[in-house]
Amino acid sequence: MRATMISGDGDTDSGLRPKTLDDFIGQPRVREQLHLVLSGAMKRAVTPDHILLSGPPGLGKTSLAMIIATELGTSLRMTSGPALERAGDLAAMLSNLVEGDVLFIDEIHRMARPAEEMLYLAMEDFRVDVVVGKGPGATSIPLDVAPFTLVGATTRSGALTGPLRDRFGFTAHMDFYEPGELEHVLRRSATILGVDLQPSAAREIAGRSRGTPRIANRLLRRVRDYADVRSDGTVTLAVARAALQVYDVDEAGLDRLDRSVLAALVRSFRGGPVGVGTLAVAVGEESGTVEEVCEPFLVRAGMIARTPRGRVATAAGWHHLGLTPPEGLVY
Ligand code: ATP
Repeated sequence: MRATMISGDGDTDSGLRPKTLDDFIGQPRVREQLHLVLSGAMKRAVTPDHILLSGPPGLGKTSLAMIIATELGTSLRMTSGPALERAGDLAAMLSNLVEGDVLFIDEIHRMARPAEEMLYLAMEDFRVDVVVGKGPGATSIPLDVAPFTLVGATTRSGALTGPLRDRFGFTAHMDFYEPGELEHVLRRSATILGVDLQPSAAREIAGRSRGTPRIANRLLRRVRDYADVRSDGTVTLAVARAALQVYDVDEAGLDRLDRSVLAALVRSFRGGPVGVGTLAVAVGEESGTVEEVCEPFLVRAGMIARTPRGRVATAAGWHHLGLTPPEGLVY
């Protein structure tokens, strides 16, 4: 293979992010609710309430946080829960805020406890108490924080502590996208990337994107590679199907890991019930990934069900693997 030219064509998601609420496809309820929260605050010339964005990965939470700052005409400061190990890390972030800033904390459920406790006060009273020194000589210095809007994103809103959850004035529950919405996302991305995407191919890719725009965009880029290398660059239905086969994405959108999880559940545990931790060990993956990425999709696809005793494969799950479900299966 001969390398020709490398250009900054942007094989990443950044150029594809919607920039405004109007640009943001799908999630009509969330868009309407958010529009009201932001417009109401702008009309009253105040900083909007703190906002929690909750939902599986890749549905556009980071994009929405950026849009919130753009719509408000303010700056966005970004960090993530795991980066806020100590209260001091958060204090540094908060003390640099300018009035009206949007502070985005991704994976907010993974923030360390001392930082979380500092955040309560900052969210409520726009001040923090910085503790200087240790032991009996320790003193607490109150510091004012400029009024800001916190935007927290989480894939596990259930893992948030009650006091933190209560301090958000609005929670946006993001759900998986409908195939038609993903087709729209794909058409928009194809235009930005300059890809000739035929409507039937867009439908095929949308149907295999697990209800997730990030996956739709990723598959589009892989299909584009295939079209450029093995064809004339046009993404036809045949090209899309052939490319998706190379990348191990099946007709229902299951990738290799989804299929391993389903196969382990069916073959190693006779369809369950089995705990998600055990399932993760069986496929050699972290239990967080199985729980937050594979499971929500497989449940939504009707292939596995959550029961109080663990996860079970449904009849559709058995059929998807080409197997006959056991007699009397109730799921
Ligand atoms: P994570 O929680 O893993 O950070 P996320 O939910 O924040 O994921 P984003 O990074 O915002 O997801 O979105 C992933 C990509 O999907 C974006 O770069 C963008 O291209 C695309 N995308 C997401 N939502 C939309 C949408 N509603 N309309 C158009 N494109 C979208």
